[in-house]
Amino acid sequence: MNHSHRHLRSLLAVPLLLTGLAGCGTAAGAPAGAPSVAPPPVASSPAGSPTATPTPTPTPSPTPKSSAEPLAGRTIVIDPGHNPGNVDHPTEINQQVDVGNGQKECDTTGTETDAGYSEAAYTLDVSHRVRDILQGLGAKVVLTQDGDRPWGPCVTERAAIGNAAHADAAISIHGDGGPATGSGFHVIMPALVKAGAADTGPIVEPSHRLGLAVRQSFQAATGEPYADYIAQQGLDTRSDLGGLNLSTVPKVFIECGNMRNAGDAGRMTDPQWRQKAAQGIADGFTAYLTTASG
Ligand SMILES: [Zn+2]
Repeated sequence: MNHSHRHLRSLLAVPLLLTGLAGCGTAAGAPAGAPSVAPPPVASSPAGSPTATPTPTPTPSPTPKSSAEPLAGRTIVIDPGHNPGNVDHPTEINQQVDVGNGQKECDTTGTETDAGYSEAAYTLDVSHRVRDILQGLGAKVVLTQDGDRPWGPCVTERAAIGNAAHADAAISIHGDGGPATGSGFHVIMPALVKAGAADTGPIVEPSHRLGLAVRQSFQAATGEPYADYIAQQGLDTRSDLGGLNLSTVPKVFIECGNMRNAGDAGRMTDPQWRQKAAQGIADGFTAYLTTASG
C-alpha cells in the first residue's frame, strides 16, 4: 500500500485511545448470535401415584459455548489486499473513488519482495488460511475477492462487502512496502472520520479493541516484532483509507511485515510462517468475538 502520509496520521492515535475507553459499554462482544439450548422437557409425574410431589422444573444450565465452534453464528469478512491482476488494469484501478473525506485511487497494485513475490499473492494466500481456520471454528467467512475477478475491487466496494454482510468484524490483510531497513508488523485502525459517506463514529471503539486483539495474537503466533519504521507499538490510526472510512462494521488493516525488508520478505515467502500469521489473525478474531467488552 501507499503510506506516504503515515507520519502525520500517527499523531491521531492518542486522542482516539482516550475516546475508545469511554465507549466500553457497547456490546460488540455480546453473544447475540449464540445458539440457545432449549431446556429438556419436564417429565410428567407418574399418573396415579398419590405420593408424587410436583416435579420441579429443571433450571436450564447456562448456554454452553461449544468449545469446538466458538464462532458459530458469527460473520467475518476478510479482505485480501490488492489483486494479482491489478497490474494489468491501470486504467481501472487508477479511477478516482470517493472515500468520504477525499478522492483516492480505486485500488493499487501493492508491493512485492525483491524476488518478485507479490503482496497480492501473499494476501490471498494468508486470507485463505485465515478463512479455513475461522470456518473450522464455526464462523461464516466472506472474502472480498478470491482471485476470481480481473482487478479490484475498489476500496469502496471492499468496505461495502463487509457492510452488506453485516460482519461482526472485518480485516484487510496486507504486506507493507516500507524502507528496506525497516521491519516488523503493524495494525491500522480507523480514525474518527465524519465526511461525506464516511462515518466511523460507531466503529472506532470496537475496531480499536479488535486491533489490540489482533496485534497481541499476531505477535504471539509469529514472533514478529512491532514495526520499527512506522506506527507506535505496532498500532497506527489512519483517516485516509477508504476501506476503513466507509466501513460500518468493526474493521482493521494488518501490515504483516515489510516486503521490502530481506528478513521480513524471507518469512513472508515461507508457507509455514504464513500459516502462523493466519493463526495469529484468526486468534485475534476469536479473542475479540468471545471476550466480553465490559
Ligand atoms: Zn497493501
